[in-house]
Amino acid sequence: MRPILKRPNFSVISEAHVNRIIIVNGTATGVEYQQNGVTKIAHAAREIVLSADAINSPQILMLSGIGPQAELEKHDIPVVKVLPGVGRNLQDHPFVRVNALASRPISLMKYNTLVGKCVAGLSYLFSRRGPVSRNGLEALAFIKSRPDLTNPDVQCHLFMLLMDEFYLKSPRHGFSLQMNISRPESCGYVSLRSSDPAAPPAMYANYLTAEADMVVLRESIRVSRRILAQPAFAPLVDREIGPGPEVRSDDELDAYIRETASPTYQMAGTCKMGDDDMAVVDSSLRVHGIDGLRVADASIMPLLVSGNTNAPVIMIAEKASDMVLGRLPLARDH
Ligand SMILES: Cc1cc2nc3c(=O)[nH]c(=O)nc-3n(C[C@H](O)[C@H](O)[C@H](O)COP(=O)(O)OP(=O)(O)OC[C@H]3O[C@@H](n4cnc5c(N)ncnc54)[C@H](O)[C@@H]3O)c2cc1C
Repeated sequence: MRPILKRPNFSVISEAHVNRIIIVNGTATGVEYQQNGVTKIAHAAREIVLSADAINSPQILMLSGIGPQAELEKHDIPVVKVLPGVGRNLQDHPFVRVNALASRPISLMKYNTLVGKCVAGLSYLFSRRGPVSRNGLEALAFIKSRPDLTNPDVQCHLFMLLMDEFYLKSPRHGFSLQMNISRPESCGYVSLRSSDPAAPPAMYANYLTAEADMVVLRESIRVSRRILAQPAFAPLVDREIGPGPEVRSDDELDAYIRETASPTYQMAGTCKMGDDDMAVVDSSLRVHGIDGLRVADASIMPLLVSGNTNAPVIMIAEKASDMVLGRLPLARDH
């Protein structure tokens, strides 16, 4: 925003918490927000673009009276527009890690000393090179957990350090292969805890409830072991410590997955674009049945992208700005 901060038709209000969108006769006319304990309203002459992410955009819509009828009634929120898909279809890319000790002190942990940190900092300062110029994820691959698949279903990250549960307290040299489910089938939802905008919404991610997701993670551990055993890698590996070579059967792998799997925080899908009953926005990102209100963030993805979400969200935002400016044709079905 910095280059355009001085434009007369542009202002940024920070340290503000949006309570709800004000809707009058089916048209979004303003945003009610809280700043320093004071409730204020920003009026909209043309339209409002909601971009509060896949968790908070559905919360704000529900607080504004747009969402599943039962959910609104449960919290005594006057119903403005029944859209049953608000908050549903929550998706993320959960992952499991395979951890291995290194046979030599070659991981990024070698920089985890005062001297190491100075060397890393100075090399970046003077040459823009070294470990600080990178993000620690040296290699990434989209792979198939089973050879018969048409498309990759796992995103594999190689961490150049051992990301086990002790990695901050008693760091050791090693590697972690992080295997994310690219196309998860488990689906959760976001709902309200209360009608108080200051209360966080309730999230039910339902990770790994689809058996297919368990299968993908299970097979991805087996693929990780094959990667670590390759001739180029094997000499650098001392031994696998997570889950550990003795953990082999489906049941044993499942137990490890259920104990250690984690979210990637790439939530999407809760205000999905489309024209079915569960869709929240149309293909121009306008909220169905409400004038002057769009949603432009990760929540509009009908299906979570198979890779990282940040760049696709920037694409959504770029496209939304073209739509607001009238550079793209509007969808007819509103
Ligand atoms: C820990 C973490 C690591 C991640 N790592 C990666 C990664 O490596 N690569 C990648 O591609 N993606 C990553 N992601 C995901 C990526 O950050 C998100 O997909 C992306 O930022 C989503 O964009 P968005 O516009 O939907 O929401 P956000 O970027 O979350 O923006 C929403 C904004 O709305 C504000 N907001 C919410 N509610 C209110 C309210 N009531 N009032 C006022 N403001 C409000 C929030 O403060 C926030 O600034 C990561 C996410 C997390 C949390």
